[in-house]
Amino acid sequence: MTLFSTPCLWVKGVEIDASKLQQKVLNMCSQNLLEKLNKIAYFKTTPFCYTCYEEAPTGICKTCSNDDLMRLKKDSGVEFDIDWVVEELIDENLNPIDSEELFEQMIDDCYGEEVQVGFLNLSTSQVMKDPIAWDIAKGEYMDGLEQDEEIISFDNGANYYWKYDVENYIEEVEQEMEEAA
Ligand SMILES: [Zn+2]
Repeated sequence: MTLFSTPCLWVKGVEIDASKLQQKVLNMCSQNLLEKLNKIAYFKTTPFCYTCYEEAPTGICKTCSNDDLMRLKKDSGVEFDIDWVVEELIDENLNPIDSEELFEQMIDDCYGEEVQVGFLNLSTSQVMKDPIAWDIAKGEYMDGLEQDEEIISFDNGANYYWKYDVENYIEEVEQEMEEAA
């Protein structure tokens, strides 16, 4: 949250020490959050004796006195470890961030939604991750030259040649042909 309040500083690489510090704080926080989620996972599950196949809410099976118990998550499963419960709880109760969308938004906020490159007004984030605009502009430029008969293609635009180069070459060979005749 504080990390994204200064996205421009982060992206431009300014105040690197500050962002490193923020990263450190963030890691500590997520460790704390994970511990809290672990506690919730225990809260949301019940001790379960697999031998007797019954719940043992007190932590000791009242039938066989076993205290090596699994964790039962109702309508879900029963396992010895707790990590899968944490994963399920996160899955069931939290929405993952669309990192692609978030990053795009951050880039737009930071550098402006549009950037002018030569004669093109382009979406900053699109340009940065996708050079298609370049290909389109290039294609239009080449089409224009072809229509003006400056360039010529013999394979539907896979390769172009300067028309005067082609004409010069033809003239050269025609001379050779004349001399050979
Ligand atoms: Zn038991």
